Amino acid sequence: GSKKIKTVLEDELAEHDLSKEIKIVETGCHGFCEKGPIMIVYPEGVFYCQLKEEDVAEIVEEHFLKGRIVDRLLFKEPISEESIPAYQDIEFYKKQRRIVLSNCGRIDPESIEEYIASGGYEAAGKAITEMTPEEVIQEVKDSGLRGRGGGGFPTGLKWDFTRKAAGDKKYIICNADEGDPGAFMDRSLLEGDPHAVIEGMIIAAYAIGADEGYVYVRAEYPLAITRLQKAIEQAEELGLLGDNLFGSDFSFDLHIKKGAGAFVCGEETALMASIEGKRGMPRPKPPFPANKGLWGKPTNINNVETFGNVPYIINEGAEAFSSVGTENSSGTKVFALTGKINNTGLVEVPMGITLREIVFDIGGGLTSGKKFKAVQTGGPSGGCITSDYLDLPIDYDSLKEIGAMMGSGGMVVMDEGTCMVDVAKFFLDFTQSESCGKCTPCREGTKRMLEILNRICEGEGKEGDIELLLELGEHIKDTALCGLGQTAPNPVLSTIKYFRNEYEAHIKDKK
Ligand code: SF4
Repeated sequence: GSKKIKTVLEDELAEHDLSKEIKIVETGCHGFCEKGPIMIVYPEGVFYCQLKEEDVAEIVEEHFLKGRIVDRLLFKEPISEESIPAYQDIEFYKKQRRIVLSNCGRIDPESIEEYIASGGYEAAGKAITEMTPEEVIQEVKDSGLRGRGGGGFPTGLKWDFTRKAAGDKKYIICNADEGDPGAFMDRSLLEGDPHAVIEGMIIAAYAIGADEGYVYVRAEYPLAITRLQKAIEQAEELGLLGDNLFGSDFSFDLHIKKGAGAFVCGEETALMASIEGKRGMPRPKPPFPANKGLWGKPTNINNVETFGNVPYIINEGAEAFSSVGTENSSGTKVFALTGKINNTGLVEVPMGITLREIVFDIGGGLTSGKKFKAVQTGGPSGGCITSDYLDLPIDYDSLKEIGAMMGSGGMVVMDEGTCMVDVAKFFLDFTQSESCGKCTPCREGTKRMLEILNRICEGEGKEGDIELLLELGEHIKDTALCGLGQTAPNPVLSTIKYFRNEYEAHIKDKK
C-alpha cells in the first residue's frame, strides 16, 4: 500500500503548499514488514507504521504543520514528547547491526547521487586507484568474509583461485537466483541498494582480473531487475562502469541475465549453463568455475549479500569488519524472519547472536501465544534448530554441528502446534519437483522418500519406514551430483533426529 499512501501524501502536501519544503524519498524495504507500510519523518527520525491512506492528512496537519507527533501511529504505546523513539530505539532494530542493509530504507535506490552522497563508489575508487588486486584480495581474506549464499566458503580465497587461474578472459557473476521458500534477502538488497551490489562486483572484478560480469536474477523479481537496470545505466553514464574506470586501464561491463525460476539454477554450474543459453543443469566438479567457468573461462561467482559487504570492507578495513561477529564467522548475516512470529521481516544481525535474541527480542516472540518449537533455517537444504539450542551463538559452524545450516538466510519460526513431519514433507516436495532429473539418486531417491512421507502423513505408514527414510537420505546425500540433491534429505533427517516421536506417532496412530 506504500505507493497509494505516497500519492495521497503528495496531494496533501500540495494542498498545504508544502511540496517544496518537504521531500518525499521512496526507499527500498526497511525490514519491518510486519508493521508496513511505514514512513520515517526526518530530521526527528519519527517512525510511523501500519499507515493507511486516511492517516496521511493527520500526519500533515499534526506533525508537519503543528509539530506534534501522532502518537497512535507510533510503534510503541503513546509516549511522552521527551522520548520520541527514533527507529533505532525500537526493539526490532536495537540488536540489529546494519552493514549490508545500511542504505536500505534510507536512500532512494533509483538515485546514484544519493548513493554517492552516502559514500558510494568510494571503495571502488580506493581499490582501483590505491590498491593492487592482490592487496584487495588480502583485505577480503583478512576480513574473514564467507559466502553468504549458504556455503560459507571464504570469499577472499575464492577470488584468489580465479585470479591465479590461467586465462586472459575472466568473468564475475552475481548469483541473485534466490529460490528458498521464505527467503527474500537478495531481493530486498537489490531493490533497496542496487549500487552497493554493483560496487562490490566492480571491486571483485578488479581483484580477479575480470572485464565482464553478469547478475543472474530471477525474472519473478521485476522491481529488483528494474532498479538494477537503472543503476547499471546510471553507473555507465558516470563512467563507473565501462572503459578505464577511475582513469585506470581497468574496464568492466555488467549485464543482467534473467532466470526463469528453476531452483537448480542457483547451483553455480547450472547457472552458468543457463547464461550460456543451455538448459540449466549442473555438471560434475572439477573442473571448478575458478578454472573453467562461463564459456570455459575462469569465473568467480558470489551471492548478492556477499558482494554487498565488499564496499564496507574496502572502506573501513578488514579489522572493522572482523571485529563484528565470531572468530570464524565475521560480520553480519541478513535473515528473513517468517512463520509464527510477531515481527516478520528482514533483519541484519551480528554473527554469534543467539536464536533466543532473534526470535524473542527482535522477533517479539510467537504470534500464537503457544510455546516455541523450532526454527527451520537454510530452506529446503537446511534443518531445524530446536528449543534446546535457543542460546547457541549462531554462526556457520555452530549450525552445521547441530545438523542445521546457515543457508542463504531464511528462518521459519514454528510453534508447538506445527507438525514436523508436514514441514519435512513440504520441503522435500519442493526439492523433488525442482530436481532436474540428471542423476538417479536425486531423481529417483527423493521421489521414493516423498512417497514414504506421503503415506506416513496419510496414516498408511509402516514399521521400518523411518529406517528406510534414514537409509535413503544418507545415500542421496553421499551420491547425488549437485548441492540440490546432496542437501535435499536434510529437512527429513533433521526432523527425524529431533522429532522422531512425531513420525512414530503418525505410524502408530495411523493419522
Ligand atoms: Fe539434478 Fe538433483 Fe542430480 Fe542436482 S542432484 S544434478 S538437481 S538430479
